[in-house]
Amino acid sequence: MRAVVVTLFNHVPIPATEIDTPFTIVPIEGKGQGVIARRFVSKGELVLAEPPLIVQSPRDMTPESIRLALSQLPTAKQREYLSLANCHRKAMHALLGIFQTNSFPLGNSSELTGERADQSGIFLQASRFNSSCLPNIIHVYDENTRKENLYAVKDIAEGEELCVSYLAALLFHPRAERRAVLERNFKFVCTCGACSLEGLALQESDSRREEIGRLYEEIGCGGNPREVLVKVGKCCPSAYHRNDIPFFDRSKERSHSWMKRVSIVTGRASIMTASNSAS
Ligand SMILES: [Zn+2]
Repeated sequence: MRAVVVTLFNHVPIPATEIDTPFTIVPIEGKGQGVIARRFVSKGELVLAEPPLIVQSPRDMTPESIRLALSQLPTAKQREYLSLANCHRKAMHALLGIFQTNSFPLGNSSELTGERADQSGIFLQASRFNSSCLPNIIHVYDENTRKENLYAVKDIAEGEELCVSYLAALLFHPRAERRAVLERNFKFVCTCGACSLEGLALQESDSRREEIGRLYEEIGCGGNPREVLVKVGKCCPSAYHRNDIPFFDRSKERSHSWMKRVSIVTGRASIMTASNSAS
């Protein structure tokens, strides 16, 4: 299942009711279906706010519990669920495989802290966004509206694919590890811009990500944010000019006012770094 990653923005999101759906879902060669911008999308823009089709508790989930949830839906929606990708055809029941492949946790879930959301949901449109290690979209579950919100983290041109990352904090790991996780969990070899680098460019990208990951862990574990910000600028200045995107845990942001301030500052950095086409 995908993990929730949260980046903060220094602007007020567009209300869901005012969304002019800026994308279309189309077949993409080698990827099944994917999401393409049908117009220019501004960084920070809310591109989708979607309620879950069904919700399950991963601990108690069975084919029967999924079948029961689906039985409450119109036939057309049940068919849409069955049309979603399934990376686990040989390993488990089809209903479970589809859920494992496409679900998002309803709340914070972090590989670093071991935090796990109690429930996960299926979102028919959000699940069509493919993965990239240079994501131009992030997803956040809003517990108040009970919707999965997807925001642009860079300007996106008409015709460009909209991608999230399926990796959460593992996004900061070297290419070999990123590819291994994606291949194991989602059964594909990532050929995104970052994973397509070779030689020195790849080494530098891997090094930047590892450094950002270390700094992220320091922030996530309660390190002094002022020191961390200084270190970010001192140790990894190129991160501010490239696509190595820092992510922040919303629960930490809520519980610590100082983290809120830091997140606003570093959130700006994430938008800035995401806006650059380098890796
Ligand atoms: Zn990749």
